[in-house]
Amino acid sequence: MGSSNKKRSSQNRWIKDPMAVTWTENYNEPISKFWGLLPESWYFYIRRRDRAEEWKCQPKKWLPPELERHEIALGSLTLFINATVSALLACYISNGGYSTVYYDVADYGWLWFFLQWPVIFIYQDYMTYWMHRIYHIPFLYKHFHKLHHKYKQPTAFSVTAIHPVEAVHIQLMDILPLFTIPTHWFPFYVVALYTYYHGIIDHSGVNFKAYWWQPWQPDAIFHDNHHQYFHVNFAFNISYWDKLHGTYRRKDRVYTEDIFYGKGKRIDEVSVEELKADLEERESENPLAYRDNKMEFKLSNGELKAMKRNYEASLRPRLSDEYAPKMNFHSHSFESNQDEARKKHIGLIVHATAKGDDSPL
Ligand SMILES: [Zn+2]
Ligand SMILES: [Zn+2]
Repeated sequence: MGSSNKKRSSQNRWIKDPMAVTWTENYNEPISKFWGLLPESWYFYIRRRDRAEEWKCQPKKWLPPELERHEIALGSLTLFINATVSALLACYISNGGYSTVYYDVADYGWLWFFLQWPVIFIYQDYMTYWMHRIYHIPFLYKHFHKLHHKYKQPTAFSVTAIHPVEAVHIQLMDILPLFTIPTHWFPFYVVALYTYYHGIIDHSGVNFKAYWWQPWQPDAIFHDNHHQYFHVNFAFNISYWDKLHGTYRRKDRVYTEDIFYGKGKRIDEVSVEELKADLEERESENPLAYRDNKMEFKLSNGELKAMKRNYEASLRPRLSDEYAPKMNFHSHSFESNQDEARKKHIGLIVHATAKGDDSPL
């Protein structure tokens, strides 16, 4: 009798302890997350496969089956490693290890309780933006992050298919608030769920759009673009970070896996082959994945010609300058030759892709 009372009270304590709930969730979550993905994947990728142009971000392209298997295997492994780190951490904290986690709202008042939601969310999202951008530096990209970019058409299973070293590194940065600022377990937990949920949505390859109450949140196409064009759109839940740092996708830039640092290449700097490949990529996107169902990065032939005109206009004062001082003659003529070459080059591009003034390329 005594032992059964003891057992019951320890069970109750276990249930009441929020960190214990978090601990249990850490192992439940990977399982439920993967199971949760199945109905969604089944509904879109199997049931509506033949109507991909109605829902898919890249309706003409599919991840090959061997990469689907690869992302499920790698995703499961990384998820297990992350869950183990979380479980150890939660165990450590719930057993009295050092942390700044608290459970009673009264400890720091309601004002801080509500204020910490945006603090945790903004900290984690901005930090992840920089971590992601740093993992796109050639060395780190080649050795770690490239693994996640094997999936040019991401699916919901791609979300955790990351190199385990990178995944744990990001996780350790994510949990810093638990050791530095008073963090109530509940907002921390809900923000983590929100991030996981959007990780799945943003990798789903489905044209999901953000709701009206999420003005900070980009649509799923934003991260789908990151997988299609590689070194651009590094943010996750707040696309403003990319706008702030100049790494937001631009219509007049070309992006490929070989063009690093997030700013792309000017259209007049790429080869005709690169431009043609880029225009084909743009063509393969689904306008329905964009706001107002309009593919905002589509380049018409007219726009390409206008770019050429603007570029020529910007060169005109220098090209007509016949009074350059003699001592600068060499550098001036070198610059003019370069400008002349680029002018010819963009003319070639327009010529190579021309089908008539207003026809899309
Ligand atoms: Zn990336
Ligand atoms: Zn991704």
